[in-house]
Amino acid sequence: MIGARRLLLEPREVPLGGVRGMTVLRALPHRNLPTIGAWCFLDRFGPADTRMRVEPHPHIGLQTVTWPLVGEIRHRDSLGSDADLRRGQLNLMTAGNGISHSEYSIGDEPIPLDALQFWVVLPESARHGEAGFERHTDLPTLTVTAVAGTDAEATVVLGEFAGVRSPATVHTPIVGAEIVLAAGSTVRLPLRPEWEHALMLVDGDGDVVVAEHLLDRNGLLYLGDSRDEVEVSTTEGALLFVLGGEPFEDEIVMWWNFAGRTHEEIVAAREEWEAESARFGTVDGHDVRIPAPPLPPVRLMPRSRTL
Ligand code: MN
Repeated sequence: MIGARRLLLEPREVPLGGVRGMTVLRALPHRNLPTIGAWCFLDRFGPADTRMRVEPHPHIGLQTVTWPLVGEIRHRDSLGSDADLRRGQLNLMTAGNGISHSEYSIGDEPIPLDALQFWVVLPESARHGEAGFERHTDLPTLTVTAVAGTDAEATVVLGEFAGVRSPATVHTPIVGAEIVLAAGSTVRLPLRPEWEHALMLVDGDGDVVVAEHLLDRNGLLYLGDSRDEVEVSTTEGALLFVLGGEPFEDEIVMWWNFAGRTHEEIVAAREEWEAESARFGTVDGHDVRIPAPPLPPVRLMPRSRTL
């Protein structure tokens, strides 16, 4: 049991390497908290006017969850997928034993772009399996009755929220849901006491208060478990993202775009990407790929929870 917590995880600015020249805000992994449920990574890129060119790069052992806020993103992968994605739509890519993909903004000119990208670590039963790609354009929505003001609208992006289930494929008990609150509203979002949760304030003017904590934009408030609801109120309106799930018990080793369990697995994946192994396939339509960075001169170790 983790217990109910209220701990602010401040995102940090991270320059993306390779040929990308973008800075992103990264809230997960946090040095004291490698996962929230099976969520192991959270980046926000934007808002910015940018020409995004994330060239082909590999993944293992995780799912990428791309949730655009503004602008359109083109996804291509080594399974032959080629999908444009915009607000309200979910791209879910399951790496399994290996996949590669690219992400571009639409068109040749800079466009207004803002998106969240999460990674979900795969359990033992799925992490050696086949890769997959899904695009969901019709995610379920529900209303959360207001305590004051207007009812909130929720979109269930991944897993289950308030008894409503997303059609996207998941491998662990998990929730990812977007919540839209109108100005002057207070709601109590239902949570599962056996799961841990966090809330991110994606956008909001005025004061947004979560569990009696005044939350800044891009702040991620970790709530622990043992809660059956959390109160959220806003003076001017807010967009929030709920993430959580069953606490993920395996210790994971994350490096670059890989999630594994041991140093050796990561080294092997890196070598196979550099050797252009069939494990990661090829993404059509590209002349360049992102090379793996050098490994650090130490053994890669799992990060453990120190909260
Ligand atoms: Mn990627």
